[in-house]
Amino acid sequence: MAPNEFFQVETTPSCDISPRGVLVIHGGAGELCPDRYPPELQAQYRVSLRAALLAGHKILSAGGSALDAVEATICVLEDDPLFNSGRGAVLNAAGKVELDASVMCSFPDETRRTASVTLVNRTKNPIRLAKMAYLSSEDTVHVVHSAPYIETLAEKWGLEMVQESYFHTPTRDEQYANKNTGDYTGAAKGTVGAVALDSNGHMAVGTSTGGKGGKLPGRIGDTPIPGAGYWCSDLPASRQSHFLRRERTTGMGISGTGDGDYFLRYAVCHEIYARMNLLGEDLESAARHVLREVGNVGGQGGVVGLTAEGEVVMEMNCSGMFRGWIDLNEGVPRVGIFSEDIVE
Ligand code: ASP
Repeated sequence: MAPNEFFQVETTPSCDISPRGVLVIHGGAGELCPDRYPPELQAQYRVSLRAALLAGHKILSAGGSALDAVEATICVLEDDPLFNSGRGAVLNAAGKVELDASVMCSFPDETRRTASVTLVNRTKNPIRLAKMAYLSSEDTVHVVHSAPYIETLAEKWGLEMVQESYFHTPTRDEQYANKNTGDYTGAAKGTVGAVALDSNGHMAVGTSTGGKGGKLPGRIGDTPIPGAGYWCSDLPASRQSHFLRRERTTGMGISGTGDGDYFLRYAVCHEIYARMNLLGEDLESAARHVLREVGNVGGQGGVVGLTAEGEVVMEMNCSGMFRGWIDLNEGVPRVGIFSEDIVE
């Protein structure tokens, strides 16, 4: 008797529940305390987070793809000097910006295609460059692309190019000049990330950062490294009964922020996926477990993520994470900053 003779095997392409469009974002995590973020500044962050969510929602509600929604959302945050990505990114030890960005999609999963860019300093929106590297399989089959060459492709692809000075803001220049202040050192917050689920049930993740303030020139963080700063993949959610084995597929997407050197060493985002895949944990439990483990050795940060069923997860092991989410049908952006903020 063949091993599978007792079983009928069904495979469905997506989750059982009809997918709902959802978008979840972060704008950096760390020790956020109300002293350093007074109410007026908090209000500015909330306005910015809502604007980013609405930009992504506009794409999703017009039937657009998760990848396009992630790009539109992150562009708003990259253009906003409040965040450590695009304009307003932190400066490295030489007083220059070096930007990292990445994208990954759950579809088509067989290829596990993802693309990232690093050490970028001329492309206005690094997330667009990561997306183009992802889509332009004729120009590149690689995963991680460093400047300067990737920015010659950015020009070829017609992306908006700027001088390195465009990314500088008075606040960041001042932090560099007085190196012991504000966000210049490891305390920088403001990396941005987005995870979207579109109405076709496909997911995409995008993340963009200036990295750590005062980093050595050439330092590459977790944001452009798959499995460290991000991950997005289908995974099996099998259920077995005596005579019927249904092979169901679910999925997860996750974007991280925090001390990237820890996220790299602990492969944080892949570890979360692996716990779901191998141990059958749900996204929230897996994220909590891994963040606790990293937090115990001194790595602060957080993640935002989605499952293919549209469950939203926003977890952190520190006192705050700029974050928010929006549901396609409802269209109301919900945002929060401190860990105790209820964002539902
Ligand atoms: N993870 C980023 C990096 O280390 C920084 C951050 O998320 O705040 O490059």
